[in-house]
Amino acid sequence: MNKEEKAVSAGPRSLTESPDQSWDRRRFLGKSSALVLSTALAGRMEAQGAQDIQKIEKAQHDKSATDPGPENQALKDSNPNTFMPPSTDHGEVQTFWSSFSAAHRRIQEGGWSRQVTVEDFPISKDIAGVNMRLTAGGIRELHWHNAAEWALMLSGNARITAIDNEGKSAVRDVTKDDLWFFPTGTPHSIQGLEPDGCEFLLVFDDGKFSEANTTLISDWTRHTPPEVLAKNWGVAESALESIYKVPPDGHYIFQAAVPGSLQDDIQAASESIGPSSVAFDFAMHKMPASRKTQYGEVRIIDSRNFPVSTTIAAAHVIVKPGGLRELHWHQNADEWQYYVAGKGRMTVFFNGAKARTADFNAGDVGYVPKTLGHYVENVGDSDLIFLEMFKADRFMDLSLSEWVSNTPPELVIQHLGISRETLQAIPKKKPLIMPQ
Ligand code: MN
Ligand code: MN
Repeated sequence: MNKEEKAVSAGPRSLTESPDQSWDRRRFLGKSSALVLSTALAGRMEAQGAQDIQKIEKAQHDKSATDPGPENQALKDSNPNTFMPPSTDHGEVQTFWSSFSAAHRRIQEGGWSRQVTVEDFPISKDIAGVNMRLTAGGIRELHWHNAAEWALMLSGNARITAIDNEGKSAVRDVTKDDLWFFPTGTPHSIQGLEPDGCEFLLVFDDGKFSEANTTLISDWTRHTPPEVLAKNWGVAESALESIYKVPPDGHYIFQAAVPGSLQDDIQAASESIGPSSVAFDFAMHKMPASRKTQYGEVRIIDSRNFPVSTTIAAAHVIVKPGGLRELHWHQNADEWQYYVAGKGRMTVFFNGAKARTADFNAGDVGYVPKTLGHYVENVGDSDLIFLEMFKADRFMDLSLSEWVSNTPPELVIQHLGISRETLQAIPKKKPLIMPQ
């Protein structure tokens, strides 16, 4: 018997051992032989697996991987991890990649919109996304909807309006990297400002949300009998003729004059009952990082620092080239991602030996079902910026590093076969971005 076989044969507890003896022996094994034991066991169990991976890697570099047929070259080039997956990828999983760049753009005078919803991205049951552009003066008309709306300003400047549950007015100007949140049923509008309007991302807490199904002021009034609308407002029917000249499905987006000063709008809108005390907006462009390491920074925005946002939590993540958003999972909600800039790749581990890696570029959308393990790596040469969005009142995650470094070391060593020295080098508090 060689040393390793002896160590393995000493493994199972003898029926004649007292519990104390057993404890002593386990402690002895733990201190002196855990590495030998675990390496030998792991070696035998994984020999087949290692051979399989070697075979796949070999096939990826010989004639097996040649591709003489047709190819969408642009799509192939932006998805290298799909064309040549890491050899650790395995099994069939639901698609968790989508892109606004493949979505229809509804273009009207004053701007455009496009959306990614569960209709064409079936995995995204919790959240739908809309990307919208408004020219200077362009208006996304006064409306509300059944889903709550969270927004990130991607460029330019905009004026938003809303009324709170007491009917009090909120009028605010927002700029790049600012957020807003409109709860379910809260009426609101968005208008582009000088010099070049705005572009923004909207995130809704319902995968079935559609921009084509919101309550527009011009659509509702247009489809109310004129005599009823006149009676409702206590005005003459003849004074409402313009309402019945709008398109049958309302304005939605339309070009208008750039509004005057913010102060004038605030004053005019709150003259009767005063301004709202609810902060529907959040100046993320002024927010210091919640966590910062050598390779990136994370801003966490949820109901703890943005109280109105009770159903959507967010992390805004910046990873420098070569950096990694560490292996982690979320206990409380599915994750919907939007990629703002850079190039990243994400592997999602779907359990039962299933794993898949996808590439993400600016404008792409990712999705990770609740509790599934994943990482996001910057594989480009500029900052990777993306959003982690959750239908939840707070951001919540656990990392692989904090799991293994806050568990009895022997237990971890016996699972993974790593050395004590290696285990001790693993970060004790999750860094979020590595290297820290
Ligand atoms: Mn809306
Ligand atoms: Mn995540």
